[in-house]
Amino acid sequence: MAQQVQGVVAMAKGEPVSMQTINIPDPGPGEAVVAIQACGVCHTDLHYREGGINDEFPFLLGHEAAGVVESIGEGVNQVVVGDYVILNWRAVCGQCRSCLKGKPQYCFNTHNAAQKMTLEDGTELSPALGIGAFCEKTLVAAGQCTKVDRDAKPEVAGLLGCGVMAGIGAAINTGEVSRGDTVAVFGCGGVGNAAIEGSRIAGASKIIAVDIDDAKLELAKSFGATHTVNSLETDPVESIRGFTDGNGVDVAIEAIGLPQTYEQAFYSRDLAGTVVLVGVPHPEMKIELPYIELFGRGGALKSSWYGDCLPSRDFPMLIDLYLQGRLNLEGFVSETIELDAVEEAFRKMEGGGVLRSVVVL
Ligand SMILES: [Zn+2]
Ligand SMILES: [Zn+2]
Repeated sequence: MAQQVQGVVAMAKGEPVSMQTINIPDPGPGEAVVAIQACGVCHTDLHYREGGINDEFPFLLGHEAAGVVESIGEGVNQVVVGDYVILNWRAVCGQCRSCLKGKPQYCFNTHNAAQKMTLEDGTELSPALGIGAFCEKTLVAAGQCTKVDRDAKPEVAGLLGCGVMAGIGAAINTGEVSRGDTVAVFGCGGVGNAAIEGSRIAGASKIIAVDIDDAKLELAKSFGATHTVNSLETDPVESIRGFTDGNGVDVAIEAIGLPQTYEQAFYSRDLAGTVVLVGVPHPEMKIELPYIELFGRGGALKSSWYGDCLPSRDFPMLIDLYLQGRLNLEGFVSETIELDAVEEAFRKMEGGGVLRSVVVL
């Protein structure tokens, strides 16, 4: 039977979010209803509220979540009722040309639940990234649920559903950071610090954090930065060369999405090194680089989507590392809040200084 729960909705562009009654349909074929236990507040949620993603208001926000599968629809074999899961926003199809090539992490045809959740009056909701987890329960495609060890606390586990996975994956999947590599990370917010953490667990020998905020640089050290550069005070390219015997780093990760910092990343890598772009640029931005430098330096310029993660492979592995005390996920949780405090969390986010506010239900 369809049920009603409370959730956080962005009703109109730029307006504060509000608590609304949400209708959750029973799961149809291939779908699951998940009782949410925790959900992190991500910049993307704020972006939806600002109308920066699309105009399909109202949005049911929230997408970095962990919870328990409450019911499943016909044909679901990925999870069973009672499973403790992290939600992901890329349920792979298994059929597209990338999946068929054995690279489901790049699936070109990921999917969400077919049915819509609605407001009390029947208005269809657009769930953020096809999830919508600032809500007591949500309806997703079963492939969006990845079972993990229930010993991991939900407020920590849920973070792997988006920003933290994007950063860790930018280092270990896209950048292929490995033992002894030198790494520079530009931008020390949630994603940048996760890239630092990812580089640390991969065995990087030097991890150079670049930011314009000394407090953020200090925090970056707690995730494993071995050197820090305030790029307002010193030229980061020169500093990074200085820390690496004049050579530059093996992997430079840009976690901001600005042309200037991309250029710094480009010039701060060693010959045959890799640049990874995980920051999200605005559509109007352009970048200009000397063509000969692109050729002459060799190596790879890559972009990282959701950390090129495969949830079924990466979430359980990272949760296991966390439970062994080898992965610092707790450091990303700045505070835990109630469901009705999301708007306030957006304000704190805009002020900086908060990695993640996490709603605990
Ligand atoms: Zn596919
Ligand atoms: Zn996110």
